[in-house]
Order: sequence, then C-alpha cells, then structure tokens
Amino acid sequence: MLQTRILPSAENAHASPLLIKSLLLSGVRYEKNREIVYRDQLRYSYATFVERVARLANVLTEMGVKAGDTVAVMDWDSHRYLECMFAVPMLGAVLHTINVRLSPEQILYTMNHADDRFVLVNSDFVELYAGLKASLTTVERTLLLSDADSPVVELIDSVGEYEALLAAAKTTYPFADFDENSVATTFYTTGTTGNPKGVYFTHRQLVLHTLAMASVVGSVDSVRLCGTDDVYMPITPMFHVHAWGMPYVATMLGLKQVYPGRYDPELLVELWEREKVTFSHCVPTIVQMILAAKAAQGKNFNGWKLIIGGSALPRGLYEAALAQGIQLTAAYGMSETCPLISCAMLNDQLQAASQDEQITYRIKAGIPVPLVEAALMDEEGGFLAHDGEQQGELVLRAPWLTQSYFREPAQGEALWEHGWMHTGDVATICEMGFIEIRDRIKDVIKTGGEWVSSLELEDLISRHPAVREAAVVGIPDPQWGERPFVMLVLRPNGQLDARGVKEHLKTFVEQGLLSKWAIPTQVAVVTEIPKTSVGKLDKKRIRQDVAQWQAESSVFLSTL
Ligand code: AMP
Repeated sequence: MLQTRILPSAENAHASPLLIKSLLLSGVRYEKNREIVYRDQLRYSYATFVERVARLANVLTEMGVKAGDTVAVMDWDSHRYLECMFAVPMLGAVLHTINVRLSPEQILYTMNHADDRFVLVNSDFVELYAGLKASLTTVERTLLLSDADSPVVELIDSVGEYEALLAAAKTTYPFADFDENSVATTFYTTGTTGNPKGVYFTHRQLVLHTLAMASVVGSVDSVRLCGTDDVYMPITPMFHVHAWGMPYVATMLGLKQVYPGRYDPELLVELWEREKVTFSHCVPTIVQMILAAKAAQGKNFNGWKLIIGGSALPRGLYEAALAQGIQLTAAYGMSETCPLISCAMLNDQLQAASQDEQITYRIKAGIPVPLVEAALMDEEGGFLAHDGEQQGELVLRAPWLTQSYFREPAQGEALWEHGWMHTGDVATICEMGFIEIRDRIKDVIKTGGEWVSSLELEDLISRHPAVREAAVVGIPDPQWGERPFVMLVLRPNGQLDARGVKEHLKTFVEQGLLSKWAIPTQVAVVTEIPKTSVGKLDKKRIRQDVAQWQAESSVFLSTL
C-alpha cells in the first residue's frame, strides 16, 4: 500500500455522501416550472415533482417500508416510475424494477429471489399479480398504480391507489443521510440461459454514473446529444437498467421529461411532435418500429437525437433514420454496467474524415467514457493489443459496475475473473480507442474453420435496399460445423432471396471485407423477427424456430 497523506477532518465537517437525494436538488433549482409529462394524462412542474417524491416517501413509510427493504415496481414508463426511482432509494430501501415482459414464471422467480416486500402494481398487471400471489414468498403489501382512464380493478393486498394516497400525504419528508455504499436499485438480467441473475447498484455508483453520463451527453461536440434546453423522452423501458440512467441525468439538469407509458409507435410519434422532443434513447428495433409507424410516413423528425445501444447499430438503419432527420449515436453497455461504458464520439482525426468514414465510426460501440477502463482478454487472462485487429473478450473496470450477482457468489466470481468484469462480448479496440463489438461469444458463427460475426453480416445485409431488418444465426451443419442462416423482414414491395443476398454480399467479399464462408446458404423471409423482453433480436428463439422449420419444412426457405 502506498503511504499517501490522509489529513483529519474537522469534527463537524460534513462528508456529503454521494446519495440519489442530491440528484433531486439541482434540476428544480434551475427550472422549477419545467414540466414532467405523462402521455396525454398528466403534466406537472418540477416544484410539484419534488413535493410528490416527498408525498410518495410518506405513503411508503405509512405502508411499512423501512431502510433495507426491497420495493418492487411493475409499471410501464411513467412519472410514477420516475418518482419511485427517487423516493424508494431516498428512504434507504432498494428499488426492484421488475421486467414485466419476462414470462410469469421468471417474474415470480425474480420477485422471490429479490425478497420483494412491497410491490407497486399497474392495473394492467393486476391479473398477473393475482396469478403469482399464491407462490410469492416475501411480499406483504401492494399499492395500485392506475391511469385516469384505467378500468376499476381489485388488487390483492393493496393499501390503496397511488394518486389518491399521494393526494392525502404530506408534501415534505425528512430524508436522512446514510452510507453512500447502500444498495439503491436491483433488477435481473435477461440472459438467454439459466435463471435471470440479479445485479445491484449503490447510491455512490448511480451518482457517479449520472455525472459521467451528463458529461458525455452534454459536452462532446461531435455528438452533442443533450443540453438543458433539450426535451427528453426515454424509449428504453425503465425496468431495463434504469432507462439507461438518463432519468437521473434529466432530473439533475432540470430537463422537460416526457414519459410515454406502454410503447405505442403512433403515440410515440404524436408525443414527439406535440411535446417537441429532441432527445431519446432506445434499442435499434424501436427505431425500426417508429420509422414503420403510420404517423411517421413522410415525416421529417428534424433534430431528434437518439442514443442507440443494447445491440449493434446497423448502417442501413443509421441511414434510414438520417433520411428522416433522426441523428443516431451508438453507445455500449449492459445490465451489469449500470449501463454506460462507451459512446461513439468523433475525435479531430475523424471529424476531418469523409462522411462515409465518419458513419463507420458513428455506428461502432464507441470510446470508453470518463472513469471507464476497457481491455481485451484472451482465454488465459492475458491482454491483447488495441490494434483494431486482435479480437478478444471485452473486459471492463469502472466505479459503477455490479460487484457480483445477488446470492450467486460463484457466478459473481466468474463475472470478475482476474479482477476485470467479463462482458461475454468479443471485440476489437483500435488505436484511436474505439471498441467494436464483433459478437456475443455465444453467437459467433464457426464455419469452415473461420469465425464469422453475426453482427457484421446483419450490418452488411441491412444495407440492401429491400431489407428492413435482418437477423443472422449459426445453424449446425454436418460438413462445416455451422453455417450462417438469415431471417429477413423486407420493405414493402422489396424482394430478396438467398441468391440476391449472395450477390449483395459478394461485393464485400471481393473488397476483402468479408470471408467467403460468411455467405449464408439459407434465407427465410418473415413478417416479424422474434425479439427478447427488451426488444433485441432473440437469437435463441430464432435458432429454435429455424430448427423446427427445417424439421417440418413448414416455412419456405430460400436456399442457394
Ligand atoms: P443487456 O444486459 O440485456 O443490456 O445486454 C447487453 C449486451 O447487449 C452486451 O453484452 C452486448 O452484447 C449488446 N450490446 C449493447 N450495446 C451494444 C452495441 N453498441 N453494439 C453491439 N452490441 C451491443
């Protein structure tokens, strides 16, 4: 240990722990009249918001919530969720953001595993809750969340309805200080194998993440995403990594915030227009969904800036969005990382480069943000060169990474093997520091002795004018080990078969950009590609579907 100098503090000096409470204070100081909007249902000012957080804390305390308890939420993206993101951790309790898109069995597993004592349930999930009730082992009380136009429903174990209880509660609450290393939030990974795993984040981690995120979205000139005059609407579920942490940033900065409830593409376009939204974030499939909405046809979304993460950003989508005035910026992160790790910002060298080259970098996972260290590791724990060529597992260090998996110490040790957090992603890092995700380790296609990146193939195929969306998986092949298989959604009147895909990809093979082994032999055109609970391509389901089709010959497969 280095013998550094640590000086004594005055006995009455205040240490100001990094608590979520402190993120609530500044926005209202700057803009107490700015609005928080929920669909076409409700709008109120920051001054009211701060009061409502105190009212909610009083309601929760009355309900029996104490520091250390876990309080779960089952809601769509709403002002209520935002209030919970503050009030629950500010009481010293842990907010469990339930992934309402998991199967009922998985939801039940996560609620029991997380020790949920209190649950706030949207009226849409009252039936689901009733079905789980008999198997829940720790829940004591519930609270009903309903919209003005929700049907009247009966929630088991309920202490009452959210708005009614808030209206009757006091507008102040004496929030105490406590250890900044207290857990503030928890939620479960949507991994495709085994049970969901619980990740957790402390007040200190969330505050540091918020400050880093604010500095990235607000200060990088090549991708200036969000300043104090921007209008923010999340389109990443709030149950998924705290809507990527942006609600904390938006509240700290006092931005106008728009919460869209359950995602409906037509309503998203309407809210964008009516509330003058300028900044959002989502996975690529949501952009597809918005561009395909009736209300979006022929519309110029001039000035809408979107961070795209959660999956690789295909060039075809980047260009389609830009043609309608939407500027996409890629970023990278995962449930285990709070989530922000890197963002595609352009340095001087790239800003001087051609438009085409700039796009090549704007769609990569980007450069690690402040306080994040990224490296590439081989299977023995050795480091690989950052030369844009060597591929290895991306490993990370940062102050806001989950320190283990809840009650899964062995899995936590594996996550942190060699003192670095393992992402399960194969990547390269170039000399400029750009991370490029080549694939999930388990999705890489091993064919004819070569490793083919399914993400790269999806990106190249997405550039064909007939293609709206493409998913590529490896399927077993007796001769080559695996062969790439493509599932396609075509644009209206678009036509493409396996031969057309081959013709399109041949040009990339000739330019040396793609191995000839990467050319898929089978293509299925479908109306919809299976998605996970957070809207990503569900490669596990796709592999299962393909195996079934092949066994039954039930879908027309175009074969070379
Ligand atoms: P999740 O934990 O569900 O948020 O998923 C995290 C995973 O999404 C990462 O491990 C990556 O495989 C993928 N991912 C996130 N951002 C990107 C990106 N910009 N490019 C490629 N893959 C990404």
